[in-house]
Amino acid sequence: MKIELIKGDITKIQADAIVNAANSSLLGGGGVDGAIHRAGGKQILDECIEIRNRQGKCKTGEAVVTTAGNLPAKYVIHTVGPVWNGDEEKCSDLLVNCYQNSLKIAESLNVKTIAFPNISTGIYRFPKELAGKIAIDEVRNFKSEVIEKVIFVCFDDENEEIYKKLLEIH
Ligand code: ADP
Repeated sequence: MKIELIKGDITKIQADAIVNAANSSLLGGGGVDGAIHRAGGKQILDECIEIRNRQGKCKTGEAVVTTAGNLPAKYVIHTVGPVWNGDEEKCSDLLVNCYQNSLKIAESLNVKTIAFPNISTGIYRFPKELAGKIAIDEVRNFKSEVIEKVIFVCFDDENEEIYKKLLEIH
């Protein structure tokens, strides 16, 4: 799998799937979640409501998929990152699950390119460096016959610097 780093807004990315750092309600929120629902339109929210009616809230570390409404992507994979509470082991395990479950869904949908935001590093306050290490490790360790490219989309300067360092991009 090829890994790419892009600085910018994930709603603009033309990938088969983009990942949303959702909250467990699946009904939208701030940060990247708000941006995706705003740019993607009502279709995404309608599908999220349908999923909620079917299976209830989305647990931390799990992921669900909708179409992408007006976005250039085909799918939005909504995953719920952990809220950082200082329990490094537990929070890390949950963040690992976010990446693994999102990649599994992508693979099952024959997704060739997938873009991830820096899950949990905004409102949920997960330490950015540790989150970056987990994201990159999980992507590198995921063996896929289907996914060809993973794009890490960094929105803030700090994450961009951390990812450049971890990916050894100069
Ligand atoms: P969480 O609740 O999981 O922390 P946030 O949306 O608050 O989710 O933040 C997750 C990351 O998404 C942060 O690093 C933030 O800078 C980034 N982000 C915010 N808006 C966008 C966007 N439009 N595209 C990509 N990343 C974004």
